[in-house]
Amino acid sequence: MPTFPLDLAELEPGELEDALEARGHKRFHARQLFRWIHRRGVTDFSAMTDLPQSLRDELGRECTVGTPVIVSDQLSSDGTRKVALALSDGQTIEAVFIPDTPSMTFCVSTQVGCAMSCAFCLTGRMGLARHLTAGEIASQVRVLATLTGHLETRFNIVLMGMGEPLHNYEHTMKALRILHAEAGLSVSPRRVTLSTVGIVPALERLAEEALMPNLAISLHATTDAQRTAIVPPNRKYPLKAILDACRRFPLPKRSRITFEYVLLAGVNDSLEDAQRLGTLLDGIRAKVNLIPLNPAPGIPFERPSDRQVDAFAAALAARRITVSVRKSRGRDIRAACGQLIVDGGTGRSAAQQVATLMR
Ligand code: SF4
Repeated sequence: MPTFPLDLAELEPGELEDALEARGHKRFHARQLFRWIHRRGVTDFSAMTDLPQSLRDELGRECTVGTPVIVSDQLSSDGTRKVALALSDGQTIEAVFIPDTPSMTFCVSTQVGCAMSCAFCLTGRMGLARHLTAGEIASQVRVLATLTGHLETRFNIVLMGMGEPLHNYEHTMKALRILHAEAGLSVSPRRVTLSTVGIVPALERLAEEALMPNLAISLHATTDAQRTAIVPPNRKYPLKAILDACRRFPLPKRSRITFEYVLLAGVNDSLEDAQRLGTLLDGIRAKVNLIPLNPAPGIPFERPSDRQVDAFAAALAARRITVSVRKSRGRDIRAACGQLIVDGGTGRSAAQQVATLMR
């Protein structure tokens, strides 16, 4: 059932052509319209000067371009920029700009809250309020790129904000198609990384996609007992099932799967864990990203010492596994790698203070 007004931000190029044709307009205007919205960040139809006046007037009467509204904008001393965005129903999400050189990275959310309940994650405490639509996911990039002046430059996208992307599969994949469209931001899937706890049927579906992003698996543990305590979905999709799905995953040449591993002092940071992790990843083109925990109030874990982190990394490197330790960004504005949360638990009000740690 079509909604009124029609939100053009939710449409892929072909759908936009169909929508214009159904209204009696030429299909080629869809490309111009898509370009205005997604590549130039223009949402005011009256400013789309290469469209016929009659079309602009009609779009103004009958359509909208859903665009999350920035309700807070915080800049870290290291240049990381975190915005809280209000959606049309008043829910609030966050997105983060990480100005790594040479590439810029936008970290975006796929859900309001998250149903996965990871023990070290503040977002998990919120529970799931709702899935984001494709337009809401893609629009975070448009809003951040406009805000930071990067609509015309190359950037990376990581789906590592609030939510589990594969739990919102359809909208996430549609958002990637919108972001990839040549008339829009034209983001190559090689520049997109999807981070997941490992929902095996969705991983298998992802393996069939034409547009396949880079894959990052949030592993965080080396035994099922340990992982189930930290990442509860492990009960349904245990380590072996996830790693077997990774072994079958059709990686493009020279690509590797990233395994994210949050280091929690005294929980999963022993040298035995490092050895077990090396064994688990046998036969997988893998790299490991170690993430020393960013401690936060309400999170019952501690960050390991730098010495322990180095020893863990060295044990993996000794097994010829590529390993990096994620530098924490934006800690002074609570946009560091860790978790995202909308204080107050449900994320319903745009006025709520948002405290963020990226996971
Ligand atoms: S770590 Fe990711 S998947 Fe787990 S609860 Fe947090 S947002 Fe959800």
